[in-house]
Amino acid sequence: MKIICVGRNYADHAKELKNDLPTEPVLFLKPQNAVLAPDKPFLYPEFTKDLHYECELVVRMCKNGKYIQEKFANRYYDEMTLGIDFTARDLQREQQKKGLPWEIAKAFDNSAAVGQFQPITEHTDVQNLSFLLKKNGETVQTGHTADMIFNVNRIVEYASQFFTLNIGDLIFTGTPAGVGPVLVGDRLELVLDGITVHTVDIK
Ligand code: MG
Repeated sequence: MKIICVGRNYADHAKELKNDLPTEPVLFLKPQNAVLAPDKPFLYPEFTKDLHYECELVVRMCKNGKYIQEKFANRYYDEMTLGIDFTARDLQREQQKKGLPWEIAKAFDNSAAVGQFQPITEHTDVQNLSFLLKKNGETVQTGHTADMIFNVNRIVEYASQFFTLNIGDLIFTGTPAGVGPVLVGDRLELVLDGITVHTVDIK
């Protein structure tokens, strides 16, 4: 199982980090060890002093596929939730400055918190969902999936050119504006279309 993540998929977030808008999806991967078990707290790692949350829509693949066309891509995933792409922003900035890969800032153990999956039915429009992240009860990040630069089906098409997508793989579809730091003692709550799908305590 692997996790494919999209960077800079919301214009307002690309702007807040002073990045140009991409013309193709910006992909990076997290390994299986990055998944934070649902009932476990997130332990603040010692290698960063600037850990950020990034709340994102996550879809789970239900079929294996390669060279999936955008128009058929919706047949390849059938569950969705919200996740947190935990990011060591200080390490990411250092790596980017040197032009180096950013896995140490993005793909470390437990860096992918994943909420409870919700079924995608024929009535679900994954490009018409609102979501938010609360920190200690206060809403700090809000997003709407209509604002993605590359929609989920385009991401599946693009990613599957390079990587065979397998049942159980997760796709983190990018974060909207409003990313920010977390501290030990914080509680993060993820709300998808009015449903709390996950709560993560930082310890
Ligand atoms: Mg992200």
